[in-house]
Amino acid sequence: MSFEDLRDFGYFQMMHPDEIEAFQAGLKHASETGIPFESEMRFKDINGEYRWHLNIASPVFDDEGKIALWAGSTTDIQRLKDEEQRKSDFIGMVSHELKTPLTSIKAYLQVMEVKAKKIDDENVQKIIDRSLIQIRKMTSMIDGFMSVSRLESSKIVIAPTRFGLAQLIGEIRDDFKNTVMSHQLYFGNVEGFPEVTADRDRIEQVIKNFIGNAVKYSPRGTDVIFKCLAEIEEIHFSVSDNGQGIDPSHHQKIFERYYRIENDLSKTTSGFGIGLYFCAEIISLHGGRIWVESELGKGSTFHFTLPRH
Ligand code: ADP
Repeated sequence: MSFEDLRDFGYFQMMHPDEIEAFQAGLKHASETGIPFESEMRFKDINGEYRWHLNIASPVFDDEGKIALWAGSTTDIQRLKDEEQRKSDFIGMVSHELKTPLTSIKAYLQVMEVKAKKIDDENVQKIIDRSLIQIRKMTSMIDGFMSVSRLESSKIVIAPTRFGLAQLIGEIRDDFKNTVMSHQLYFGNVEGFPEVTADRDRIEQVIKNFIGNAVKYSPRGTDVIFKCLAEIEEIHFSVSDNGQGIDPSHHQKIFERYYRIENDLSKTTSGFGIGLYFCAEIISLHGGRIWVESELGKGSTFHFTLPRH
């Protein structure tokens, strides 16, 4: 395309239609805040095929601090994207392979559990119980990896149905009350929660992730508060804790893949930094919003919304 064709947003013709809206919103945000806008997006090449590019738009300011012009760079990252895809397929395959022996170990342990009960040996029972807890942890980690690799290959589809949040949150509350003794969990007036159209299992996963993190990243004995509020256009969910809090510089990044904040607590807490990434993908597939409100030392509140239809 010639310079004349490109100037004044002519390059929209080369962009993938799915990305134009987010790109415009990103530019608007950058011009309001002065923070450079960075995004990965697809541009058509000369053969009409889309290739992934890293796109950076940086405002350049004049002496009075006003935006004088924009400097942009667009770099072809298709090769990196292909490699990323191969890596993610590999993770998916490895996770799948790891699950098979784990399932057998679990089955054997369950047989042993029955036998241990018969011989009435409390010590053996305890050891088996602990092994089963570890197996459960490992299974959920592997499931997390499998979900991420499935997400990246865009194999994930959400299957929305109409369901009552009262029932779902009631189940989640009972699950947590049976397993979490370290914190006080509050769920509010669950019976009054509305109905929603969404993928029930995925929404359950997001809420459990929020609550799980709140428990993981806040001191024993403190409160974790779940709230659900039906607003005019959306349903608003939040989970608050009295934990260590998160510095604003991490607020966006914690929703990225494999991102964990480096501090003493994260060194001693297990995790791979994929939980929130997964939550963000699920909520975006539902057309909702997800964000965190937090300051260091003042606890955190994680929010998400679902459109009401
Ligand atoms: P993981 O917990 O497995 O590391 P997540 O994607 O769930 O992965 O979270 C990413 C990071 O965000 C965590 O490593 C942690 O540093 C931070 N984080 C998440 N939830 C909280 C919370 N409630 N309070 C403080 N930090 C949190």
